[in-house]
Amino acid sequence: MSEQFQAYQIGKSDAGQRCTLTQLDDSDLMEGDVTVRVEYTTLNYKDGLALTGRSPVIRKFPLTPGIDFSGTVIESSHADFAEGDRVILNGFGVGEGHSGGFAQKARVSGDWLVPVPAGLDTRHAMAIGTAGYTAMLSVMALENHGISPGDGDILVTGASGGVGSIALAILSKLGHRVVATTGRMQERDFLTGLGAADVLDRAGFAEKARPLGKELWRGAIDVAGGNTLANVLSQLSYGGAAAICGLAESMSLPTTVAPFILRGISMYGIDSVMAPIAKRKIAWQRLASDLDPKLLDELSFDLDFKDLPQAAEDILDGKIRGRAVVKLP
Ligand code: NDP
Repeated sequence: MSEQFQAYQIGKSDAGQRCTLTQLDDSDLMEGDVTVRVEYTTLNYKDGLALTGRSPVIRKFPLTPGIDFSGTVIESSHADFAEGDRVILNGFGVGEGHSGGFAQKARVSGDWLVPVPAGLDTRHAMAIGTAGYTAMLSVMALENHGISPGDGDILVTGASGGVGSIALAILSKLGHRVVATTGRMQERDFLTGLGAADVLDRAGFAEKARPLGKELWRGAIDVAGGNTLANVLSQLSYGGAAAICGLAESMSLPTTVAPFILRGISMYGIDSVMAPIAKRKIAWQRLASDLDPKLLDELSFDLDFKDLPQAAEDILDGKIRGRAVVKLP
């Protein structure tokens, strides 16, 4: 029997894109072999772009946004999943070209799902969300480069945001000395509470970068792009590496080849959306073991489902601290 459920839906007309909270039923579910009762979702920067329409994230209309969710399988014809399984969905174009997590129900391909790992529940999974899983992919990239705790300081930019705050918490738990940059120096105590050994004003990274600066960082995780990233690259120490995952400042990268050819530095591009499932499973297992649950509780907060549209504006304006967790009504 068809069931009605609450969902945000983004439609498009000549007047532009419009997001409404509405009732859908099972006939609105998209193709897929696993149907999930969504328990939690969250708000990422990309969801902010999708809900506000500030960037053309949505590729199909009408569509339910929400690039990630966690919940319980209620129907499955996929070999790996059965009714009652707890699952996580991140990316794979969900919330962009396939209806996503801002709904009480979702139907997706089982090939896109990861089981909730032991040690996490569906709420904690969305306190982490795509932002936290991207932070872990970034940490893994630095580790694969050969960076170990004790090798030198790691810089995390945009540290009060979702990716940054979780990257900070993971790196500090792993024993790295981590330095945070932020545009919100009033959040210094929050950031030192997550493990930052030092907190720098991001204004110091805003000017055009010199080809080479002082060698300060063994590694970096950057969410900003633009001049911030260019300055970070020019300050990496010999053989250092930066994991590049965001564009909160800019899509541009006004740098030179100098730090690459004179200091042998490396840049690793981080993509969470199409990352292979085996890598995702490792990242989620690591999140269950290498992220202090107390810190996760400190950096996350509850956001009401009906407040998502306003919060979408706030995240783009850099006003959201840490991670928003949205319980489906
Ligand atoms: P948030 O909005 O939670 O965090 C971004 C943070 O960046 C802000 O909180 C702010 O931190 C900082 N910031 C904002 N504006 C600027 C600016 N002009 N210059 C420098 N820093 C700035 O977003 P998320 O953490 O969810 O995402 C961060 C970025 O990573 C986004 O660009 C997002 O699109 C990208 N992303 C990419 C993924 C991938 O697969 N590659 C996956 C997930 C996210 P503070 O106030 O502390 O300075």
